[in-house]
Amino acid sequence: MSGLSITGYFPFKRMKILYQNIHHEDASSALIRMAPDLRYTPLCHHCGTEAATVHSKGYPRFIRDLNMANAQIFLQVDTRKIWCNRCNGVRVERLDFADASVRVTKRLARYIYELCKKLTIKDVAEHLDLDPKTVKAIDKSFLEESFGQNNLDNLRVLMIDEIAVHKGHRYMTVVADFFTGRVVWMGQDRNKRTLDAFFKNLTKEQKRSIEAVAMDMWEPFINRVRHYLPRAQIVFDFFHVVQGFGKVIDQVRRSEYAKAKGQKRDVIKDSRYLLLKNEENLTDEQRPRLAQLLEVNKTLASVYILKDQLKMLYYWGDRVKAKQTLDDWCEMAGHIDHPAVKAFIKQLRFFEYGILNHADYPIGTSMLEGINNKIKVIKRKAYGFHDDRYFILKVKQACAA
Ligand SMILES: [Zn+2]
Repeated sequence: MSGLSITGYFPFKRMKILYQNIHHEDASSALIRMAPDLRYTPLCHHCGTEAATVHSKGYPRFIRDLNMANAQIFLQVDTRKIWCNRCNGVRVERLDFADASVRVTKRLARYIYELCKKLTIKDVAEHLDLDPKTVKAIDKSFLEESFGQNNLDNLRVLMIDEIAVHKGHRYMTVVADFFTGRVVWMGQDRNKRTLDAFFKNLTKEQKRSIEAVAMDMWEPFINRVRHYLPRAQIVFDFFHVVQGFGKVIDQVRRSEYAKAKGQKRDVIKDSRYLLLKNEENLTDEQRPRLAQLLEVNKTLASVYILKDQLKMLYYWGDRVKAKQTLDDWCEMAGHIDHPAVKAFIKQLRFFEYGILNHADYPIGTSMLEGINNKIKVIKRKAYGFHDDRYFILKVKQACAA
């Protein structure tokens, strides 16, 4: 019979298996009764020291283990309380295979953590017939262990951006390492105080090692970066600039539409995406429509050229050339008599330093777009993401993979 023993499946130290009891005809669950092996001195669960004496016996614990075949496995262990000289008090004894306050074995907890990388908490809970709260607590404790600390060393170039949570009603700020894409820090909101929480954790040396920061032209971020990293170069992300000009194009288009008459009006109608899309992404049907649009309306033709020329601001690795390009661009744009264009020129002039810095530091935040996509997946799988801490840990985990 020894060849058929189940003990090999439970390689737990200092334990003896007493018997198994398989319930029901369909073997859907089984109880494995265990007891501490009395040849060993029990250990303190708190500090791991050998017990001075056994204080009392007969505290049964029921601990869920990994399923076997079709059966849910429950371990019943009669534990003892001990006197620990080191803790100077009564403690429960340590079990090698389960943490003191957790009702699943360590190996089941590890399995749950692995499943939670792919499945929703609800799916995992249903699959294992566990309470979703238990599943989440286990996942979160593993995440805390791996991602709970912010590693702030060796940061040279940062990316900072906001992400929309809850359909844009709420924002979080993400700070990531430009070279590795690692999420270094996340915090609530995107206001002036948000980044204080990040920068205050940095030592003087850590701050000094940061040479450049890529971000959007967002005053609260700029303000804090300047305050904490006075020597770092701020670089405004190219795609944010393009996006900003996209809004300008749309406003110009609307004004032109309002002014236009007859057939010209029809050509401008519904032309928003023709103007905003990259030309190479247009279909064969859309291309002639764009050509016609630019033909009938000179102002839209001008902003369309300006949109294309915007790329040149980020083309040069030479500040002088970048500056010349910016001056040319603003001069060209100055011919368009529209308040949105005027406001955009003013903005470019105001934030000129961060565009020219791109010549020295060709960096941007587009890698954060990838992080944003991962966040969307996490949100779709959401359970309990009113728990910001859990959400942040899940994002860090997804971005480390
Ligand atoms: Zn102790």
